Amino acid sequence: MHADVVIVGAGVMGCALAWRLRQRGVEVILVERGRPGAEASSAAAGILAPQVEADGPGPFLELGLRSRALYPAWVEELREATGIDVGYRREGTLVVAGVDGARDPDAEVAALWARAAWQHRLGLPLVRLEGAEVRGLEPQLRPCAAALYFPEDRQLEAPLLARALAQAAAQMGVRFVTAHVHQVIVEGTGERRRAVGVAAQEQRLSAGHIVIAAGAWSSLVEGTGLPGGAVAPMRGQMLELDTCPPLLRHLVFGQVDGVAGYLVPRRDGRLVCGSTMERVGFRKEVTVAGLRRLLELAEGLVPALAQAEVRRIWAGFRPYTSGGLPLLGPTPIAGLLLCTGHFRNGILLCPISAEALCACITGQWAAGVAPVDLAPFSLAAVGANPAGHGT
Ligand SMILES: Cc1cc2nc3c(=O)[nH]c(=O)nc-3n(C[C@H](O)[C@H](O)[C@H](O)COP(=O)(O)OP(=O)(O)OC[C@H]3O[C@@H](n4cnc5c(N)ncnc54)[C@H](O)[C@@H]3O)c2cc1C
Repeated sequence: MHADVVIVGAGVMGCALAWRLRQRGVEVILVERGRPGAEASSAAAGILAPQVEADGPGPFLELGLRSRALYPAWVEELREATGIDVGYRREGTLVVAGVDGARDPDAEVAALWARAAWQHRLGLPLVRLEGAEVRGLEPQLRPCAAALYFPEDRQLEAPLLARALAQAAAQMGVRFVTAHVHQVIVEGTGERRRAVGVAAQEQRLSAGHIVIAAGAWSSLVEGTGLPGGAVAPMRGQMLELDTCPPLLRHLVFGQVDGVAGYLVPRRDGRLVCGSTMERVGFRKEVTVAGLRRLLELAEGLVPALAQAEVRRIWAGFRPYTSGGLPLLGPTPIAGLLLCTGHFRNGILLCPISAEALCACITGQWAAGVAPVDLAPFSLAAVGANPAGHGT
């Protein structure tokens, strides 16, 4: 089989890129060994919060802000194309500090104001709130000393996004192949190396461009030039509760007993609580310790959650890189590109990653999307160290 582009992996990255490429008339084969979207992309909470996730100014913040800004048009386009409403919510995010009983409330509040200060200097939208104001906004939250409100941060339901992207790609004529890709086929040597296809079980799929979008498994595909462990799995355990009527309106980040996490309220009363960060290889278990942590976090932030019904528990693998930045764009092997390593922000970064990779391949940026400098996300900049030695 031959196409212009073969993409390995049909999570949100692979599907979004395939969709965008097909819209520009590019022939695409999307190879997925399991069900499209079933891995990290369906495990995610769906938080779109660059102002909470960034530790300071830099390439990650830039990329995240750009991607967040693309979302309103993306969700509309997806709804028109597929009829799927991905549950995009505009209420914004609260980061609370010094929740009653906190180990070191002063340090938490100081960290909050430091974040406010650097974001204020950059002109980013945020509101500083005292404890009483937080209580006014979210009466069910345990009292806290202070909070930051990020009015532009958003959320959506990641499994619905994954479904909508797979459907949009299929409707546009992307060819889905179910197979495990074990190797990229590379011809030539040294600087004249060129990727010409992939070996997928007994098939050879050839193309002018190969894109690795295999999430936490990206380093396991042979022939990519990725150092072993450049992208590694970081397990996250998750808990979904049911509350009727809903107890929260805003997405809340907070700490209980030194454990940080978040509560993501859905419109219908479901509430997702996450998450753990564990380097345990590809072990997908939900553990007693992980679950206990999530339950304590949930009840510690919102006492009334003690009476909520537990609906679902699950775990997934974030594709982690040592610098915490994604790997995006061309590699030293001609024709081979990376779209992986999005760690804990792949849902947020999906639109800008797909637009950027699409532009790398076609040479055209979509109308209204300014070019992105991909140098900070190159293999040389991000992927040189095995992820085990990073932060
Ligand atoms: C618990 C948890 C919570 C998260 N919460 C958020 C959040 O709130 N906000 C946010 O922005 N991000 C979040 N993330 C991160 C986000 O989910 C990921 O960064 C993103 O989904 C990565 O997408 P992907 O398409 O690269 O990977 P995946 O969705 O993992 O897709 C990779 C696909 O490649 C396939 N594949 C792998 N190897 C091969 C092969 N050799 N041959 C064929 N197919 C292959 C896999 O089967 C898989 O379907 C979270 C992640 C987790 C685990």
